[in-house]
Amino acid sequence: MITTSTIARFTPLIVMSNLPACPQCTLENTYPDGANYVCPDCAFEWPIAALADAGDVSDGLVKDANGQVLSSGDSVILIKDLKVKGSSIVLKKGTKIKGIRLPEGAGDHEVDCKTEQGAFMLKAEFMKKA
Ligand SMILES: [Zn+2]
Repeated sequence: MITTSTIARFTPLIVMSNLPACPQCTLENTYPDGANYVCPDCAFEWPIAALADAGDVSDGLVKDANGQVLSSGDSVILIKDLKVKGSSIVLKKGTKIKGIRLPEGAGDHEVDCKTEQGAFMLKAEFMKKA
């Protein structure tokens, strides 16, 4: 039976995205303003796109706990119990999740998935390819 309490549990584990430190004064109070980042401390501005290309150390691939590359549609198995923030839900180690999705630019989580307990955003390091 489906009740309303099983719906809309799309719980972000982490919602903040990381802003880069100012390349001029290295302080971290920066914020995006249109197509630029702005540093309020030294008033330096620089384009968001250029820095994202040059400074991102990630190769853009999402890898599981074993370093295997994950793709949308893959099935994975959780390698540890994951307690869902703000709820009593625990996703159990060994749970198999089918049809994961890899959203672009999602910040600090890499994988969207659906289980019988709801929809969740997870980090790839807590799963392995099934
Ligand atoms: Zn600055």
